[in-house]
Parts: sequence; C-alpha cells; structure tokens
Amino acid sequence: MATYDLVLTNGRILDGCGNPWFWGDLAIQRGRIVEIAPRGTLMSTPRIDVDGRYVSPGFIDIHTHSDLSILVNRPAESAVRQGVTTQLIGNCGMSPAPVDAAHLIEMQRQWGPISDQSEVTWEWRSFGQYLQALEQGGLGINIASLAGHGALRIAAMGLDESMPSSIQLEQMKAFLAEAMQAGAFGLSTGLVYPPGCFADTDEIISLCKVVSERHGMYASHIRGERETILTAVAEAIRIGLEACVPVQISHNAPKFGAPCDASANLHLVDEARARGQDVTVDNDVHTDLAPALTGGLPQPLQDLPANEIAALLRDPARRLEIRTEIVLDQKPAFGPVGLLKHAQWQRITLLHAPNSPGVIGKTVAAIAEQRGQDPFDTYFDLIVENGHEAEAIFDYIDEANIRLLLQHPAVMISSDGQVLAPYGFLNDPIPYQPCSYGEYPGVLERYVRDEPVLTLPEAIRKMTSFPAQRMGLRDRGVLRVGAWADVVVFDLQRIHDRATNLYPHPYPFENYPHQYPEGIDYVFVNGTMVVDGDQHTGALTGKVLMHGLNS
Ligand SMILES: [Zn+2]
Repeated sequence: MATYDLVLTNGRILDGCGNPWFWGDLAIQRGRIVEIAPRGTLMSTPRIDVDGRYVSPGFIDIHTHSDLSILVNRPAESAVRQGVTTQLIGNCGMSPAPVDAAHLIEMQRQWGPISDQSEVTWEWRSFGQYLQALEQGGLGINIASLAGHGALRIAAMGLDESMPSSIQLEQMKAFLAEAMQAGAFGLSTGLVYPPGCFADTDEIISLCKVVSERHGMYASHIRGERETILTAVAEAIRIGLEACVPVQISHNAPKFGAPCDASANLHLVDEARARGQDVTVDNDVHTDLAPALTGGLPQPLQDLPANEIAALLRDPARRLEIRTEIVLDQKPAFGPVGLLKHAQWQRITLLHAPNSPGVIGKTVAAIAEQRGQDPFDTYFDLIVENGHEAEAIFDYIDEANIRLLLQHPAVMISSDGQVLAPYGFLNDPIPYQPCSYGEYPGVLERYVRDEPVLTLPEAIRKMTSFPAQRMGLRDRGVLRVGAWADVVVFDLQRIHDRATNLYPHPYPFENYPHQYPEGIDYVFVNGTMVVDGDQHTGALTGKVLMHGLNS
C-alpha cells in the first residue's frame, strides 16, 4: 500500500476549473498533490477526515498591496486565514523596488509609516534584491510580484511631473528588464496616483514592450474609474494592443460619478476579446475604502509633509485653488475623490482624527453642520488638524455593479487589500480594511450561499484557476496530480466574514475591529498545514514565485 505525508479523506473536491464537486480523497507528498482517488480508498496515515467539507485549491489573490506588510507579518495572517495561499503584489504602480539611493526618501513617503518599521530595511536596490529579502526569513503564503511603474519612474526621475527624457526612459526600461529577469510577472500602473498620473500613454507602451519580450502581463489601475472610466479602459486596451501584452484591468468597478454602470466597461472588454485581444478584469466586493483624507488632495500635494499641506490649506487663496482643482479633476484622481467632487459628504464617515475630538463615526456632512461650516472647509480643516492621520470611510461603489462584475466570465475575484494582523504595528491604529480579512469568505457567504449570484464552482474558479491562468502559474490554482498542494478545506454552511460592514452602516460598526473569518478549517501551503481550525501553525512554507518558471 502506498504511503503519503498526508491524506485528506471524505471531501467534496472542487478542482478549481469550474467543474461540480465530486467525493474523493487527496494525498499530499513532498509539497505536491500525488493522488486523487475515490472517497475512502487512500488508507495511508496520517489522515484527516474532512467529513464532507469542500476541498478546493488555495485562493490566489491577484491584486494586493502586501509588498511591505508581508515583511512585517511573514505568517500573512489575514490572508491565509481566508484561505489565500498566493498573492500577487506590486499593483497600482507601487512596488518597493527598484530603488535609487538619490530618490529613496520619495519612495519611503509613498509607502507611509510602514517604511519606518525595523523589518522594512530598505537595504535592497534592485528588484532581484527585494525578492531575495522577501524569501529570506520565510513566508506564510506564496508571493508573486509585479514591477510598479511608479517605482521605475521614481528611481529614474523622482516625482518630476514632466515627461521622461530619452535617457530617463531608457533607464526605466533597464530597471524593468532587470525586474523581469529577476522573476517579475509584468508591469503595473497606477495612472491616478503620483507619479503614474504624470505619464502619457506612449511612455507606458514603451515600457510594456519590455514586458512583452518576456511574456509578462500589464496590470493597470486605469486613468480614472469615474467620469473617465470608458476612455481609461480604452487606453489600457490600446496599450495592450500596441505593446502586444495581455491586459489585466484592476478592481474595475465604476466609482461614484461614473456616467454608466459596469456593463459599459465590461462591453469594451468583450469587444477587445472578440477581436482576439487577451483582456481580463479583477474586482473586489466591498463598496467602501478608508484612505487618508490627504488622498483627496490634487496629486502633487498628496505626499507632502503634513505641515506643508497645512500651510497651503491655511492660505485662503491656495485653499480655493485646491478646491477648484478637486472639482475640475483635470488629472483624474482616484475613486473616492468623486465624493468630494459631487458633494457626497454624507458618504464620508470619519474613522481616525486624533486631534479633532468628537468626530469619529460622524460624516463630514454632520461635522460641517455641527461646526456651522461649508463641508469642503470642514474636510480641509480636518486635514489641517490631523495631517495624514485623518482617515475616513468613503462609501463610493454601488453594490449592483459588484454583482454585474462578479457574474461576468472574464472577471476574477481579488481583494485589493494587504496582509494585516489584529496585533502589532499592522493593527495600530486599527485599519479599516474589510477586504484584507474577509474578501474570499465574504464572496462565498453573501454571493454563493445566501444569494445565488454565483454558483460555488464558478466562484471557486474565479478565486483559483482563473487568476493562476492569468499569471501563467501552471501548477497552482487547480487540484490535480502533480500540482503544488496549496489547498483549503471549508464548510460553506458555517462560513462567515467577520470584517465587512454593509452601507449604510451604523456606528459603532457590527464587524470592527476586524476578526478572522469562520468556516475556513484547514489551509495548506506547499503541502504543509498553515491553518488548523482557529490556529495559525506558524509554518512558513510559502515561496517567492518567479514568472516563467514552473513555480
Ligand atoms: Zn488601485
């Protein structure tokens, strides 16, 4: 009789490819799935009777921002407790490498206070050195990475708003070639954030040609997800066509202020696919985001030190100019700014403001009324009082669009979150990021079990084999003999996301501070148990994945 490192017996096996479940046993040896057989036929010990629960590939989160937080929390608590076994980092133009020493300070400012944590040494310079730093010290999940256009641009020319000179463009291409050589999966852009918003389409096409040579992908936070969403989707598609790269449109839900619902942007994707272009989309299922209030300022001001921002906002003439620019939105700002532009102050709820007593849990509309002020002035005053520490929940997405996106076959599920933990630096102050704790269980609970938006096999496909296919991972995201044993065992009846609060939400919130979900019973990463019921086993068996290798 064959012996294995571990057998999971008596499971409903979901292969990840969209097929209905079947009863079976699954055997793991040396990190890989080595046998899948009829229920009750693999008798080797040790053996776990999963008692009819679902056995699926570990979830692959194609859009995260864990680049630095994974260094602070290597077990990847908030991710792996959801059943996520692989994340793609380096999204929205933001990766922590390459770094040029002359522009290190601009880079650190972009990442905010986490930059100062002792685990974040900033000793790396090249992309390859950053990947080495990730690998040394162990990882609780597998990590794949994109090179961020913003990082390339900062390394070559700082936060300069002009077009790159030909020398600077060549330098960016060389940085990108090094990153691809080191194992990057492609290039990401964040065309609403500095410095991505300063780049024109041709700059991105030139860089994507470097990605094309190595068969990578182009992932974009497009140039506006509200009023400009259709031209921005069209720009992403054009970049893919001209540079000959597959396109991943990130978190593509229309935000408040968009002229149409999600069927319009999805129609552009369908048209491109019908013409033979490989364009796919991801989205998360949360209607809110909790950025710093300074994120609502025009891009060149966002990353200035708090005292410089306060000085500008104290000057009445500059204050009026800034307000006018926010409303005109000439360089489209990120999604939440639509609430400022369209005076939706009742949709902005204060979360942190250490120097403004009595405002937490109130909307900007309510605080303005209390202060007898114009809400725009209230918004600016809260920044003057608290600098970058003022944070609010912006409720800026219509759930109807989330359902439309979930049901489209070319849309996969992502979190747009990051590795967090309810202890230590990553919980101080407590961040409001329900997607980081509850994305995958939330989809299964709300959109599969409680409401028939997706079938279970289709939801699992969008969490596993589909993102694996997009990234070119040939031996993850599926349960089959020979694949790496990234496996999650869950109980659909018990599954419960304890991080998400639906809008309009009373304060205090139902699910806050965030907690790990229920019903994710076992998680295996490369064949080793990492989650056992409500315990993290401490195992750090994740790998840094390299593009193009059989990783
Ligand atoms: Zn983004």
